[in-house]
Amino acid sequence: MIVPEQFSAVPPLWAAIFGLILGAIVGSYLATLAIRWPQGKSASRGRSRCDACGRVLRWYELIPLLGYLFRRGRCASCGARIDPLHPAMECFAAVIGALSLAMHTSLYGLAGALFGWALLLLAVLDIRHFWLPDRVTLPLVLLGLGAAWLTAMPGLIDAAIGAAAGFLLLFLVGAAYRALRGRDGLGGGDSKLLAAIGAWLGWQMLPLVILLASATGLLAVASSALRGKAVAATDRLPFGAFLAVAAWPLWLARDALAALMPGL
Ligand SMILES: [Zn+2]
Repeated sequence: MIVPEQFSAVPPLWAAIFGLILGAIVGSYLATLAIRWPQGKSASRGRSRCDACGRVLRWYELIPLLGYLFRRGRCASCGARIDPLHPAMECFAAVIGALSLAMHTSLYGLAGALFGWALLLLAVLDIRHFWLPDRVTLPLVLLGLGAAWLTAMPGLIDAAIGAAAGFLLLFLVGAAYRALRGRDGLGGGDSKLLAAIGAWLGWQMLPLVILLASATGLLAVASSALRGKAVAATDRLPFGAFLAVAAWPLWLARDALAALMPGL
């Protein structure tokens, strides 16, 4: 089943502005989720509140980015610093929405934005808590297969092989590491995340994802070493975050890459 570029009558600029606004709103929700979920609190129930004093926020304080600037980064009643994760995730999600829909003014673009927003949430949770919840990664596998079925980019078979290969690859690497070193080197969530990425990008893109994720990881280690923080072999690194950071730009660049390397 292939859905044509059905919103193609919409000029890319308008699609980008729509994606920007939608992304900022989604990012605002994702930031709340990323802060409250690890604390065991619900992000969906109840009004939006100050993370510190619990005061219910007024409507104009809820406007993504502007709300943060308006409050100058502090709560108006208790003066507590607002977690900069709020404006950061709003910005990233807005850029993801704008670029996805500017590049593809179609259902494919909207699906790509959804993929990027889910990866953004996973990257933040992995960096802050070394946690890649199954409740995000597993639905993301199914959504990837569904998107492949709807858009045929990648084909459904390539997506299914990608999901299986992505899972098996990191599962086996993790098992081998455990057998050799007697401790866990990879979180179980990493293999499910790579399964989702394989479903969204197709198996052909997996080597590039691993390559880019490893390069990102090395850069992160090098930059923390430059800042005087040595990384020991036993230190945990959020490999899932590196996978997430690598996967979305590759989704975006897929057409250009396919032109350079036919068969992707
Ligand atoms: Zn407050």
